[in-house]
Amino acid sequence: MFSKILIANRGEIACRVIRTARKMGIATVAVYSDADARALHVEMADEAVHIGPSPVGESYLVAERIIAAAKATGAEAIHPGYGFLSENPDFVDAVEAAGLVFIGPSASAIRAMGLKDAAKRLMEKAGVPVVPGYHGEGQEIVILASKAREIGYPVLIKARAGGGGKGMRKVDDPDAFPEALASAKREAKASFGDDRVLVEKYVDKPRHIEVQVFGDKHGNVVHLFERDCSAQRRHQKVIEEAPAPGMTDAMRAAMTDAAVKAAQAISYSGAGTIEFIVDASDGLKPDRFWFMEMNTRLQVEHPVTEMVTGVDLVEWQLRVAAGEPLPKTQDQISLDGHAFEARLYAEDAAKGFLPAIGTLHHLRFPEGPGIRVETGVRAGDAISPFYDPMIAKLVTHGANRKAALDLLSEALADTQIAGSVVNTAFLAALAADADFAAGDVDTGLIARKQDALTALAEPQSAHLAAAAIAAADIAADRNAADPWSSLAGYAHFHATPKRIRLGVGDETVTFRLSVAANGNVDLRFGDGVEGTRIAPSRLPTARWPGHVTVFSGTASHTFTVADPFALAEAASGGSDALRAPMPGLVKVVRAAVGETVEKGQPLLVLEAMKMEHTIAAPHDGVIAEIASEGAQVTDGTVLVRFEEIEEAKPASLLG
Ligand code: ADP
Ligand code: ADP
Ligand code: MG
Repeated sequence: MFSKILIANRGEIACRVIRTARKMGIATVAVYSDADARALHVEMADEAVHIGPSPVGESYLVAERIIAAAKATGAEAIHPGYGFLSENPDFVDAVEAAGLVFIGPSASAIRAMGLKDAAKRLMEKAGVPVVPGYHGEGQEIVILASKAREIGYPVLIKARAGGGGKGMRKVDDPDAFPEALASAKREAKASFGDDRVLVEKYVDKPRHIEVQVFGDKHGNVVHLFERDCSAQRRHQKVIEEAPAPGMTDAMRAAMTDAAVKAAQAISYSGAGTIEFIVDASDGLKPDRFWFMEMNTRLQVEHPVTEMVTGVDLVEWQLRVAAGEPLPKTQDQISLDGHAFEARLYAEDAAKGFLPAIGTLHHLRFPEGPGIRVETGVRAGDAISPFYDPMIAKLVTHGANRKAALDLLSEALADTQIAGSVVNTAFLAALAADADFAAGDVDTGLIARKQDALTALAEPQSAHLAAAAIAAADIAADRNAADPWSSLAGYAHFHATPKRIRLGVGDETVTFRLSVAANGNVDLRFGDGVEGTRIAPSRLPTARWPGHVTVFSGTASHTFTVADPFALAEAASGGSDALRAPMPGLVKVVRAAVGETVEKGQPLLVLEAMKMEHTIAAPHDGVIAEIASEGAQVTDGTVLVRFEEIEEAKPASLLG
């Protein structure tokens, strides 16, 4: 076994690998960029090496720096995690050329599966069913469009080098094909530097079921059952589970056999996942699943497999890479209970899932039997625009699906995060959805129910009361001339009524709060002595610069603590503008100055976090100003300004 390894990754997966290495008595070396200098993975590792500036292209993707760091620290092997260099065969070659071990499959196995078109051709030969479609060499639009027609709409255009759901477009009819192709190619070029695509039949009522496989360097291959990842949004996984709901013995046997055959066809060693798309329009049928792609690495959702098999997949990766045989034979691997994983992201579900950034001023994760949290952040850490905005994975395990799902709902309700917008309420709504709870999930479920799943609970007076009380404390801290005076007691300090102004969306609510000598709080809406009295509330709150967040079940309500000067400014500058919701690049502009546009009309496409986001008109209007194509914008930059709408004046006043 190795005595020291380097982890060429960051965030939760770097922390995850370090934990197993430590358990096995293996020393660890972390690498980090400028933005990650004080990151959790750096703190957890025995040693850490700085590899460059924050952008991934200057740090985590620079193979030479990572290999140099391994050599300099005497690490014998490199674990790539997922993403970054994990599926880059040239990196594997370079690692081996430097006399180090790559903890993963051979470069040739990665090459065989790296491009979706070539992988499908190879799997066809190996007798594995593949998704019907065109995966040939021709890339001219006439060829692709005519293949699409042959395959029959709807079709799915996919970047052959794609990953993470990027460079993928579902097309429902021939008219939409050229635009979808152009957009898929643009995204593919930007994300993968390769704009070649394949075209597939879009499978009906699709379910994504994948099989975890494991090979060693002695020719053994086993599977560790399946995971269901059908709960997806824009082809990205949201909640995963194992085993797949409704799985039958016949279907499982067919899928795991095909997966093992696929791995054997490329003499696979290490952890890998064979992803299948399943037509679930008539239940799970052994002749209705097809190979989509193989991920030649550890998967984000690997913990659900660990929970139901009791296997530490990272430990197996290290053993296999060190040349040991697989620790278990197929017969020794069995399923125990059910597990879920929910991906907690800094994103605004209610605003079309815009990725968010921010400092996680307050962070509380759930704990308890059957609950596992994988994270790479602590309270005070920032979600930066440089990396994937995942905050944590909440994993639960129960004796059966219902128990595991109930535990997931509880775990989500016990999660408190303030400082960034988080998708907790969306995940909770999905976990509570009737179809999801029944195991009736296809990849379109989230899109069909998006409005209901992302509806925000309106703040109630109990939330306002809790926020006002917490906000009063902020003011107290700020105004206290003597820092020790706050120790004299809340009651004493607030003896005179205090005005609190909270920002709720676009509105400001004023409160009058006073605390009697006995500590009783008197809280009224409005400025006057009269105001409506509201009952104080003891919901948990978190205070952070300029804000208060109130937690209530799986919902959280964030209020700004109004600063009178800032308010005045916002009112006078309150022009009718659309601002960039996050930093990004203006990719396409679809409207011109002077043009009359309708509510909902796409105005421009903003590329941020490697994804394209369409910005639509919030109302009818005339464009007064619009950003130009290629412009780099930060959040808050005005993208579109509308002409002021003149109030129609009564005719008698004219002239
Ligand atoms: P999984 O099935 O494990 O979720 P994904 O394909 O969604 O696999 O990708 C896993 C992670 O790797 C994602 O979080 C994504 O950010 C990252 N990733 C995937 N492909 C790429 C890529 N080409 N470049 C950079 N990161 C990628
Ligand atoms: P990526 O490399 O981005 O993970 P995949 O080929 O695995 O790309 O596809 C991502 C997701 O898109 C799948 O999980 C599935 O939900 C959906 N998908 C892919 N191919 C098809 C298809 N032919 N029909 C319907 N949905 C598909
Ligand atoms: Mg995939």
